[in-house]
Amino acid sequence: MLLEGSCHCGSVHFTVRSAQPYPFNLCYCSICRKTAGGGGYAINLGANNETLKVDGMDCVNVYQAKMRDADTGKTKQSPGRRHFCSKCGSALWSWDPRWPELVHPFASAIDTELPVPPEHTHMMLNSKASWVEVHTGPKDNMFNAYPHESLAEWHQRLGLEDHND
Ligand SMILES: [Zn+2]
Ligand SMILES: [Zn+2]
Repeated sequence: MLLEGSCHCGSVHFTVRSAQPYPFNLCYCSICRKTAGGGGYAINLGANNETLKVDGMDCVNVYQAKMRDADTGKTKQSPGRRHFCSKCGSALWSWDPRWPELVHPFASAIDTELPVPPEHTHMMLNSKASWVEVHTGPKDNMFNAYPHESLAEWHQRLGLEDHND
């Protein structure tokens, strides 16, 4: 489906085609929580990077998180590039050069009506803030780190992938 998105101040608008538009994947990591998840988590969608069209790119800034390796104590920069509006701070999408064909819009930036997921994935629960309560449905799956399934595999398992995109 075609997704239309924007930041809150309206400086940035974008469209992108998505075969994985269900907002099922809740990430509780500290980066998502601080940059895009006021309630404790952020939700990413799967979309086709080639189809991303942006109006207002001059207002888009990029954040690459610096993370401390718990074993070595060394700081390294995340390859993931989180795009946000430099005027209002809205999180827009994330793109990772390791998977250049994909782009992950934040569900919060999307203005198109999204389909309601029949089940959710709760991920990075090891990084969850203690005040955040995880509200799970009967079919939800929980993961301390990364889930076994990709965004695309979740949609395929449930027969929800949009084959036109
Ligand atoms: Zn803005
Ligand atoms: Zn995260």
